[in-house]
Amino acid sequence: MMNVTLLLPMIVGWIAGLFINYAADVLPLTRRFSQPACTHCQASFSWKDYLMLRPCRNCGRARSLRTWLVQILTAAAFVYFWQFPSKALGIPLGMLVIVYFGVITVIDLEHRLILHPTSLAGAVLGLIVGTVIHSRADGLLLGAAKSLLGGLFGFGVMFLLYQFGTLVARYRARRMQGSGQAPDDEEALGGGDVYLAGVLGLMLGWPFIWDALLLGVLLGGLISFLFIAALLVRRRYSSDALMTFIPYGPYFILGAFYKLFL
Ligand SMILES: [Zn+2]
Repeated sequence: MMNVTLLLPMIVGWIAGLFINYAADVLPLTRRFSQPACTHCQASFSWKDYLMLRPCRNCGRARSLRTWLVQILTAAAFVYFWQFPSKALGIPLGMLVIVYFGVITVIDLEHRLILHPTSLAGAVLGLIVGTVIHSRADGLLLGAAKSLLGGLFGFGVMFLLYQFGTLVARYRARRMQGSGQAPDDEEALGGGDVYLAGVLGLMLGWPFIWDALLLGVLLGGLISFLFIAALLVRRRYSSDALMTFIPYGPYFILGAFYKLFL
């Protein structure tokens, strides 16, 4: 029999899912918490229809699969981490981090975009989380310092990698121009990933950010490798596939999630 007390995290998780969906619907388009609109016909939703997950009244389309997935996954995550909370974060902070990860993951997957306002909000949350985690053993001041050091490290390492990726992309564009092809705008590593690595660095602090970044890069590399292998098997592989954009953001988040919660 289901424990009645689990109704509370389920309801709170459902509401958190509504917020993740809302942020992922409006922030990439309007950069602010605006009135929600249908993704198909852009007609505004009334708040009641939007929050009840009703179809659009104008074009009749049902809400997206992502909307439902986010609702169910967030409620499930809240129920799970209510019973087995992160030892490092505890319940309230852990749930805030889940909501934050949810918002940036959905936006990154759908738009390949890490927004500056969400990075800024993440930096504040990251400094709080990192300080809480590290001040248990080290006291408040040293705890905050370790959080800041982690943030600087995450940002710095990804910034250098990003600069290197830009150099490679520039070299490649010049070569493509030389052979008469139009240059494209492939980037090996998005600029937003640099800020994301900084935010995750603040959250995890020094030295845990190391493990999270390494995990993210390994996971991203492994999945890209499988992807290329699949293309090879289907004989759709071209040398350009090697250069296709690897969106590291979601892998970094997975790495940080693993470190913080599991
Ligand atoms: Zn519509």
